[in-house]
Amino acid sequence: MRPALRAGLLPLWRDRDTVQIGVDPRRAVALTGMSDACDVIALLDGSRDRDQILAAAGARGIREAVTERILVLLAAAGALIDFPSSALRALPGELREQMIPELASASVSCQDGDGGAQALARRAGTAVQVCGTGRIAATLADLLTSSGMAARYGPLEVIAPDGGRRPAGDAAPDLAVLVGRQQPDLVARVQRAKVPHLSVSASEAIGVVGPLVRPGVTACLRCLDLARAERDPAWPLLLAQVAGRDANPPACGAALATAVAAQAAVQILAFADLGPNDQATANGTLELVLPGWQWRRRSWPPNPACICGASPPA
Ligand SMILES: [Zn+2]
Repeated sequence: MRPALRAGLLPLWRDRDTVQIGVDPRRAVALTGMSDACDVIALLDGSRDRDQILAAAGARGIREAVTERILVLLAAAGALIDFPSSALRALPGELREQMIPELASASVSCQDGDGGAQALARRAGTAVQVCGTGRIAATLADLLTSSGMAARYGPLEVIAPDGGRRPAGDAAPDLAVLVGRQQPDLVARVQRAKVPHLSVSASEAIGVVGPLVRPGVTACLRCLDLARAERDPAWPLLLAQVAGRDANPPACGAALATAVAAQAAVQILAFADLGPNDQATANGTLELVLPGWQWRRRSWPPNPACICGASPPA
């Protein structure tokens, strides 16, 4: 173990005896009885193991028991991590620089103990396929790639319904992202193959991220159309006229497209980092209606009339 101060948080002094790790009160922790900690904290950059820290602190006149106590207090406060040196070493040089803020962000947001190493491994091991064209799909693929996820940008491959495991050689996605107007045959294929899929779109100056469909578990795209038809009996007729058509030009400017791609990327990273449970887009959509500024969540429970097999949450 190479103890390090959690990356992304600054050590600050509230008084001679009290150190605060982090600035924002939603992240920061304050520890008292730390008058000797300044020199020890300076050693917590991940370059030394525990014994080397004790020795280096000793060389600065700090007793071993005092250094031990400082490390215990920092660890108990969640401010100490095991520096992810092997995860970083495994990355090629230029990617390493790019991943350092990704690791810090994952580590601070998930409060892990390994500096984001496991989150990075989960991202790299999650095959996401972005299916669609245009600015949202391109921006989303870039964001996912920059976040350590091997996004594949192109037409979706048909997935063998084998429980979602990747066949040797080629990779079937763990998550398909369907960007833009949904193609009924593609939706039917991913639903039949039980591939989790996230719908992402923006038109009429409204951005929508979700639902995240886990076939047979959470509401599918047809569940949403059935719910819309319950509110508006003409919906099936309107839907039939929409098929294969898009407004030209689409009412989606660069800022909306980028906001939608970023929101989708955050949701996809949460899917990789935390797993499919309790996702905001499961049985729901996140929607941004311009000129408003606030993303709102709409709830879409599985529809009892749908044959997808998802049952409403208890
Ligand atoms: Zn359904």
